[in-house]
Amino acid sequence: MIFLVTIFGLIMGSFLNVCISRIPAGESIAFPPSHCSYCGARLKSLDLIPVMSYGLLKGRCRYCSEKLSIEYPAMELFCALLYISVYLAFGLSYQLVKGIAFVSIALVIGAIDFKTQEVYTSTTITGGIVGIAFIIFEVLAHNVNPLSYIAGGIISAIFIGLIVYITRGMGEGDIEIAAICGVFLGIKLSVAALFIALVLGGIGAALIIIFKKRKKSDAIAFGPYLFVGGFIAMVFGERLIEYYLLLF
Ligand SMILES: [Zn+2]
Repeated sequence: MIFLVTIFGLIMGSFLNVCISRIPAGESIAFPPSHCSYCGARLKSLDLIPVMSYGLLKGRCRYCSEKLSIEYPAMELFCALLYISVYLAFGLSYQLVKGIAFVSIALVIGAIDFKTQEVYTSTTITGGIVGIAFIIFEVLAHNVNPLSYIAGGIISAIFIGLIVYITRGMGEGDIEIAAICGVFLGIKLSVAALFIALVLGGIGAALIIIFKKRKKSDAIAFGPYLFVGGFIAMVFGERLIEYYLLLF
């Protein structure tokens, strides 16, 4: 099963790559079919095997020999790694499907935010709709009380909203990202996610200021930290909360 999850992760990673490169350019993710970004040659199925094609072609386009970005196979591997982590945490279950949906959305929005410092409304609306669809499914199929998810979304958004308002160093996209995390995680894990994100964000900001000598007022992309916090909370959250409570 882990083999299938890995293959699925690599293939999805390949598709998410398309989203990550096309959405900021304002292009459709469905059309035109995959092509070389240098010579425009349409890629055949042999050129589209995740990771392997890159290795077989030694990182160059088959048609124009232009060097291809290592980012593509790296992202495919990273996506597979995230899927495997979710599988190891939840096994073959409903949580696996939900977790895979969450990390896929997180990967697209987070990577675009990281690269461009922009959060696109089309992506956050998609993330929100998918999250709400999972809530509706849980309410209808498992009689789950949706209050925790609703509270998670609203409280996360308000909390990050306050930080955005006070510091003016973060973007409004971060509010939308926080809401998506909250809707997927529910209130308890959302609090853990926000806590982890703030700690990691603080460390990251300190490192950037120390090594790149950036001014404190420069905006940093906080979205990826929120998603990393959300991912850690989702996979390890219950155990982390237990350990944390044991401290007192
Ligand atoms: Zn080419």
